[in-house]
Amino acid sequence: MITKAQLIFLGTGGSLGVPVPCCPCSVCKSTSSYNQRSRPSALLQVEGKNFLIDAGSDLRMQVLREKITTLEGVILTHTHHDHASGFDDLRAFYFHQKKPVDVLLSKESYIDFEDRYHYLVKQKKEYPSKFSFKVLDDDFGSNTFKGLSISHVSYLQANMKVLGLRSGTFAYITDIKEYTPQIIEALQGVETLVVSALRYSESPVHLSIDDAIAFSQKVGAYKTYFTHIAHDVNHDIVSKNLPTNVYLAYDGQSIDVEVDFGS
Ligand SMILES: [Zn+2]
Ligand SMILES: [Zn+2]
Repeated sequence: MITKAQLIFLGTGGSLGVPVPCCPCSVCKSTSSYNQRSRPSALLQVEGKNFLIDAGSDLRMQVLREKITTLEGVILTHTHHDHASGFDDLRAFYFHQKKPVDVLLSKESYIDFEDRYHYLVKQKKEYPSKFSFKVLDDDFGSNTFKGLSISHVSYLQANMKVLGLRSGTFAYITDIKEYTPQIIEALQGVETLVVSALRYSESPVHLSIDDAIAFSQKVGAYKTYFTHIAHDVNHDIVSKNLPTNVYLAYDGQSIDVEVDFGS
């Protein structure tokens, strides 16, 4: 059922965040709150339920800042540090909610977590599991996760598989560079698109701002929000030069979306 929801950008920065430690550039020195970007993550709020998209290095400060005290589920796009290194901090929700935290992730992410977070993922009799995993085996597909209908697409970022997510007319596509026509096809009908756009100059592993504008046009999204933004991008200056209905997201921003929930 198409349901109104809110997307809160918890973090809109690239892997190093903004400001970058030690960097003397004008964006890193900026006092504008729009140029303070923590590591990329978002919270989808639908009918009072909180779904976290990625749990990166700044997760703890993000959930404190937004006063998030419950999580219905966590959706993990991939296991690069900037998206996954807050995983251990999710234990706070296990202790508060007194039940395992539900996590949706790819098989590749799960295998990586079995190694990196073996003390949390591998079951031990004397150590109750704090997480419950729903593992996606396929590259493309549709599933229901805690009432939220999600279609996923897959692409590679430097040999790591990344999941892109769609629910209803909303899509969240991060850490994308190369993509197939099948991905564009799967995103037709998306009205609100969140997509990563690192900076104007080329990156080997990310869409540039111009690439992301082209991606948005291929999808045909009505509104597009860029996230995963590096310190090369001054919010006020770049915002003025974007096409109509294309925006730089900022930390703490909340937008209206429509997702498929409770079907
Ligand atoms: Zn800088
Ligand atoms: Zn990233």
